[in-house]
Amino acid sequence: AGATFEPAALAEKSVSPPQAQVTERPAYVDYVTYRQHGGYSVPQAIARGELDHEDVIKAMESSGLRGLGGAGFPAGRKWRIVREQPAPRLMAVNIDEGEPGTFKDRTYLERDPHRFLEGLLVAAQVVGTEAVYIYLRDEYSDVRVLLQHELKKLLADPPCPLPHIELRRGAGAYICGEESAMIESIEGKRGEPRMRPPYIAQIGLFGRPTLEHNFETLYWVRDIVQRGPQWFVGFGRNGRKGLRSFSVSGRVKLPGVKLAPAGITLKELVDEYCGGMQDGHQLYAYLPGGASGGILPASMADIPLDFDTLQPHGCFIGSAAVMVLSDQDRARDAALNVMRFFSHESCGQCTPCRVGTAKAAALMEAPRWDTATLEDLSQVMGDASICGLGQAAPNPIRCVEKYFPHEI
Ligand code: SF4
Repeated sequence: AGATFEPAALAEKSVSPPQAQVTERPAYVDYVTYRQHGGYSVPQAIARGELDHEDVIKAMESSGLRGLGGAGFPAGRKWRIVREQPAPRLMAVNIDEGEPGTFKDRTYLERDPHRFLEGLLVAAQVVGTEAVYIYLRDEYSDVRVLLQHELKKLLADPPCPLPHIELRRGAGAYICGEESAMIESIEGKRGEPRMRPPYIAQIGLFGRPTLEHNFETLYWVRDIVQRGPQWFVGFGRNGRKGLRSFSVSGRVKLPGVKLAPAGITLKELVDEYCGGMQDGHQLYAYLPGGASGGILPASMADIPLDFDTLQPHGCFIGSAAVMVLSDQDRARDAALNVMRFFSHESCGQCTPCRVGTAKAAALMEAPRWDTATLEDLSQVMGDASICGLGQAAPNPIRCVEKYFPHEI
């Protein structure tokens, strides 16, 4: 099943797109098989001095790989920044994957765990981190067993000198997917986001400079270093570059993880990768970036989906969780659902978010929206919340008001 994600299949971009075959327990590439096929050759080359740290960072920078957890910070630049901080440096890997509609990390991890672990080792070597903390969503219990099993094999027969590696369990809080809340949680505290600055690259886990990455960002490191940055840059559509793993759900015929060129439009994604809309359903709206990324109408299904392309429309791609709605759905229902979720998951640390999301959800239940009060709330939540949850909470309100006024 892992082979279905090989990017080489994208050479035939619109012919036979890779499809996720999600089953209870998919077959996966274990440690022995991975090594037999040349796995871990990149960290081995670095350890032997055949591959220079600077060359690896340059390859990462040239690839344009950005943080695929949602924030989109350039990965190579992050490596350079953390490497320049005083030792000891640490690393934290975010596999909390709590964004509604996002399931790419789990899909890749349960099929090809060592591709991710190889990327993790490369990052640790190049940045010089002494210890790595992997923060795994606790709901992924099968994945945890798999990862424990494979980590044991890696530690028993290391391909190169290893950093200290710890696997930590999350406890189901959405906010712990926010990098500084995750760090608090790893430290054994309540998962509440920190004010920044200082940034965690300077003062992070246990007060040390910390390299923080989403699972998928590390997943692509091996291929970018081995195949060269131009390989990654060679993908893309509509003026964008690279690959994106879209978690597609909703009213399409074939939902799942779709590895597709960055910049693909929603219409192209649905038609070419998802077998079109389900029978009897017409495209009505879509959420391009999970709960936080806003809602767009079908008339805007031709916008390139990528970092930076959706902001002018009040939306963002985040972790590329695309939820497709049809003429049998209402955008206001999706927006209300999202606001209830935010209200439930708000860590409660700051009043605009804690009170604002609850009050907004109550107002959004009314048949006719009190748009003036909702706009007041949106302004305060956006301006005065500490972290992205509260800051992005107004997105669904504003999108419905702007693009679906007939519903409210
Ligand atoms: Fe917590 Fe919300 Fe404030 Fe973020 S914005 S710190 S989730 S209360």
